[in-house]
Amino acid sequence: MTPITLTPQEEVTSKPKPVLAAVVEVKQKIKQDLRMGRAHQQGRINWITSIAMGLFHVGAVASLFFFSWTNLATFFIMYFLAINVGIGVAYHRLLTHRGFKTPKWVEYFVSICGCLALEGGPIFWVATHRVHHQFSDQEGDPHTPHDGTWWSHAGWILSGRALHSETALLGRYAPDLTRDSFHVWLSKYHYVPLVVTGLLQLALGGLLAGPGHHLIGAIGMLLWGTFLRVTIGLHATWLVNSATHLWGKRRFETKDDSRNSWWVAVLTGGEGWHNNHHAHPVSARHGLTWYEFDINYYCIWLLSKMGLAERVQVAQFDKDNPKPAGA
Ligand SMILES: [Zn+2]
Ligand SMILES: [Zn+2]
Repeated sequence: MTPITLTPQEEVTSKPKPVLAAVVEVKQKIKQDLRMGRAHQQGRINWITSIAMGLFHVGAVASLFFFSWTNLATFFIMYFLAINVGIGVAYHRLLTHRGFKTPKWVEYFVSICGCLALEGGPIFWVATHRVHHQFSDQEGDPHTPHDGTWWSHAGWILSGRALHSETALLGRYAPDLTRDSFHVWLSKYHYVPLVVTGLLQLALGGLLAGPGHHLIGAIGMLLWGTFLRVTIGLHATWLVNSATHLWGKRRFETKDDSRNSWWVAVLTGGEGWHNNHHAHPVSARHGLTWYEFDINYYCIWLLSKMGLAERVQVAQFDKDNPKPAGA
């Protein structure tokens, strides 16, 4: 065999090619995998998510046969912890937009509350939401109503890819969280807080029920505190993606279709003031007038009064000529 010898010139031109090609390929793969719009999901159904969602809806309907005032109270306490403290305060205003700072133990506690909503771990939620802000109502937005009203509400969850496990890819949008081993751990085991609180509800419901009713008491509290509560909480959060990009008033001329919706704000503790939020994403306060109630902001305000939150960002704007931040 005759050995093939390359002239120096050939070496220079031929060697970097495969490396370059590989880099380009990896870059393209990352870009493709992160494209979250409907056009890039290939219509696949995410069966695990769909079956879980179906079961929670069945449990929610079943809960109606187990009403008690104790179960209703459990519903509200768990809803407040998951949707207000967990999603609104922690996942959204603290972790995604860094609208304020807290000691690490507070950040971790409220993030655990976020897992109670069954909306994935902090890395998945934060990365997806940052992508939403980057491509709001354009190609690549994970849940724009431009791809269909149902798609923006729940379709993107049911037929999108299971991005939960792709931590490395999602990490590009949440490097601050992937550097933190607690958030990486919590993102992997995001279902644990829901399982633990579910077992506690079973035990407490059984204990509080009268003689001979322990089983009904246990099941009833689990159905109200977990199944009905998770189901309503999911729809409340999804309405921020669907309804507040479709219906409501616009105070700010933002580049997206975001709107302010009082009834979505009622369900989510202030997240419905979504046009305000797209105009001033870093603001920890979304309700910008006295009548735009914002329970999640009141929680942050309370934390700051207790010395547990600092550098709380609040949007400043000219009422007569409201403009988005940076405009
Ligand atoms: Zn939005
Ligand atoms: Zn946001």
